[in-house]
Amino acid sequence: MYFHYMNIGNLEKILEKEPAYRLRQAKSAVFGDLIENWEEATVLPQALRKKLGEDCPLQIRAKVLLSKEKTAKAVLTLNDGLKIESVLLRHKDNRNTICVSSQAGCPLGCQFCLTGQMGFKRNLEYFEIVEQVLFFARLLKKPFDTAQGRVTNIVFMGMGEPFLNHDNVIKAIKVLNDKDGFNLGSRHFSISTVGITEGIEKLSKENLQVNLAISLHAPDDELREKIMPINKKYPLRKIMEAVKNYIEKTKRRVMFEYIMIEDVNDSEEQAKKLAELLKGISLSFVNLISYNPTGIFKPSLPERIKIFKEILEKNGISATQRYRFGQDIRAACGQLGVC
Ligand code: SAH
Ligand code: SF4
Repeated sequence: MYFHYMNIGNLEKILEKEPAYRLRQAKSAVFGDLIENWEEATVLPQALRKKLGEDCPLQIRAKVLLSKEKTAKAVLTLNDGLKIESVLLRHKDNRNTICVSSQAGCPLGCQFCLTGQMGFKRNLEYFEIVEQVLFFARLLKKPFDTAQGRVTNIVFMGMGEPFLNHDNVIKAIKVLNDKDGFNLGSRHFSISTVGITEGIEKLSKENLQVNLAISLHAPDDELREKIMPINKKYPLRKIMEAVKNYIEKTKRRVMFEYIMIEDVNDSEEQAKKLAELLKGISLSFVNLISYNPTGIFKPSLPERIKIFKEILEKNGISATQRYRFGQDIRAACGQLGVC
């Protein structure tokens, strides 16, 4: 291991013998003022800045790709040389969403997902998740393209399955929640999972107001198992039970994600089956996502998506449709594979 680049994991340790206010000052400089170099933290004594510069560097090693649309992808190189990807989505209403990775690669091998095809390298540390957010927060602070702004939303929809790295994900959220630092409230975070039921249950006990999204993508176990091998371990019945318990406990809305893949999961019969599956789940809605081609399947035709949505709605299930940006730089969901 060599720490020439950002490693804020040992910040607290370095400052443990200093008076408590030093840690507050350091955090406020890194997460509030978004400094990129300890020399900018002029409230800290020179010697301390030097030590922090050596043992807790702030430089981030990254390459940015800008999309024609309002999207940017960053490829970050971690201290052990592994590469991960994060995406910035800039919305018309001035919201800026960062899509972060929770793992380098993913062990779950969903057929439609490029990350799944690259295999699993390792879990990310909490500060490697935070680093992705800081990278874009710094970028947004500078005149970048035409607009400036700040990070308003964070979604765990990049590489990896967040609930297979639960503790680091929760710790990263808590670090970014800090009122004296980055100060982004839990409601602005969303975690997307394939339905790791232990993770759903654990989250319901966290007392964090984050949003939960479940990647469903099929209305029955037979199909889901084919495209998402993890369904063998977490079949739909188990996931639905965990979601019901979660809603009962937290009273929070849950989003079901459903990628529309031509002739795989987009028939009228499948729409009816999906409505049936979700009938008993109050406080939920379906988000129909256009499939970003990764080489295997084709996206559903708009007309099919429209009919699918109508069937859901006719059967009492609310549904929204999400268009994806950034296909030209492979920054769309499911297209993260480190190019
Ligand atoms: N592992 C988690 C979170 C990361 S994937 C999960 O699967 O939920 C984030 C989202 O991108 C998921 O909803 C996933 O299903 C979706 N996705 C994966 N491949 C995609 C593709 N080719 N087109 C569109 N969305 C895709
Ligand atoms: Fe992993 Fe999510 Fe991709 Fe499936 S969709 S392989 S769980 S990142």
